[in-house]
Amino acid sequence: MSNKPKIVVLGAGYAGLKTVRDLTKKLSAEEADIVLVNKHNYHFESTWLHEVAAGTINPNQARFMLSDVVNPNHVRLIYDEVTKVNKEDKRVVLENGEITYDYLVIALGFESNTFGIKGMEENAFAIVDIDSSRLIREHLELQFAKYASEENANEELLNILVGGAGFTGIELLGELAERVPKLCKKYDIDRNKVRIINVEAMPNILPTFGDNLTAYAKKSLEDRGVEFRLDAAIKECTKDAFIIGEDNEEIKAGTIIWTGGVTGSSVLSKSGFEITKGKVTVENDLRAPEEEDIFVIGDCAWVMDPETGKPFPPTAQAATQHGGVCANNIVALMDGVPLESFQFDDKGTVASLGVNDGIGMVFDGKELTGKSAAAMKKAVDNRSLFLLGGTKMILKKGKIRPF
Ligand code: NAD
Repeated sequence: MSNKPKIVVLGAGYAGLKTVRDLTKKLSAEEADIVLVNKHNYHFESTWLHEVAAGTINPNQARFMLSDVVNPNHVRLIYDEVTKVNKEDKRVVLENGEITYDYLVIALGFESNTFGIKGMEENAFAIVDIDSSRLIREHLELQFAKYASEENANEELLNILVGGAGFTGIELLGELAERVPKLCKKYDIDRNKVRIINVEAMPNILPTFGDNLTAYAKKSLEDRGVEFRLDAAIKECTKDAFIIGEDNEEIKAGTIIWTGGVTGSSVLSKSGFEITKGKVTVENDLRAPEEEDIFVIGDCAWVMDPETGKPFPPTAQAATQHGGVCANNIVALMDGVPLESFQFDDKGTVASLGVNDGIGMVFDGKELTGKSAAAMKKAVDNRSLFLLGGTKMILKKGKIRPF
């Protein structure tokens, strides 16, 4: 039996993978056993999934093999699904086994949250991972193929409903506005027959961006044929429709996608952590409350900003930064020195509206629209690849498409 401390990281998303990559730089194989547990043998860029779902990028561009970016001589890779954490005996239960730990990092990401809306889970697609996003891409194209091949096919088959106008919904609409004309061309269908409809409960889209930018985004999408139904809550999802608003209006579609919210991994509640809105509110050093050796990071955690008393935004940028601080703090625990507090280094926020358009707010409060925002989004995406996979991953998977 080895006397080395065993560090187990659950999840190879932005937060987990960054933790592991930083740990391997700080600790030699003689100093600690590092184990990375992930459901798949690949990492995927969750902020690119809307592109996979719309079919504007190939699913393989949004993922890379873990064995390409993690040295298997330094990190033990286990491909399995985490079921539960037993804190009492420091054990993680997996679908096909179990593993003990000295230090644990829970970075299991997000799940779709339908807030109990009747029929939503059963009838709508959700953008959660590569498989669920690829399914949307295939389903969407199938509706066009069906419409083209069936005599007297119903035009509603071509309608696309997107529920929720947060980040995911808006970025998806931008990609759909690009993809639909291409599908129309491929299947000889008049573009005017296809409706892309967004339903949002709030009076505006993406309110965090402020009035100017949201107005820009709305107009840009509308100019490319997106219809918005704002101030209209979805009450139910049937197999081919949303039921919306006070008067229970029915809007039918062949493709229905829910982008109305996410929550942290359900492993958290199954493992007895105290949960607020689906996530664990962690201490400033990223440990779960009252846990000496368990860190919770990425979309599983609320990390509070001590200045505002509100959580830092749960973005990929923040998750990657959690990973860096988490790795530092595990080494600090091993060395018996004080842990550092997480401080978000906000490099700005950008939402894409398709390949050539976007909106953004950069660090000095400057607002970006159009091609400059789209270029910044690509730079952000490439930087993420670089942080997790180095230069070779940018060359392999980077967004270097010309405008
Ligand atoms: P969200 O919670 O940000 O947005 C969901 C939207 O759905 C909201 O506008 C909400 O009003 C609406 N909605 C909820 N219930 C509804 C109903 N019944 N009827 C109609 N509309 C309804 O969810 P998201 O867009 O999936 O984003 C989740 C988190 O991930 C956010 O914090 C977001 O900022 C982050 N995110 C960041 C990026 C990025 O940084 N590039 C990309 C995607 C997501």
